[in-house]
Amino acid sequence: MAMCHACRRTLLAGERYRVWRWERRDRTVCAVCEPEVQAAGAVRVVETYETVRVGGLTQTVKRVA
Ligand SMILES: [Zn+2]
Repeated sequence: MAMCHACRRTLLAGERYRVWRWERRDRTVCAVCEPEVQAAGAVRVVETYETVRVGGLTQTVKRVA
C-alpha cells in the first residue's frame, strides 16, 4: 500500500504520486503535497506520475499469445 510521506495519508486507488528525494531518502509523495515538499528542498526523482493500482501489487497481466 502506497503512503504519502508528507501528509502520512494512505493513497487511494487511482491516485497519482511521484517519488521525491530528501534527507537522502526516496519518498512517495502525493500530487497534492508536491509544492510543499519542493519548497522544503526535495528533489524530484522521476518525471512521470505513477498511479496507485487497484489491488496493489498483485495485479496479474493476462497474456494473449
Ligand atoms: Zn501527501
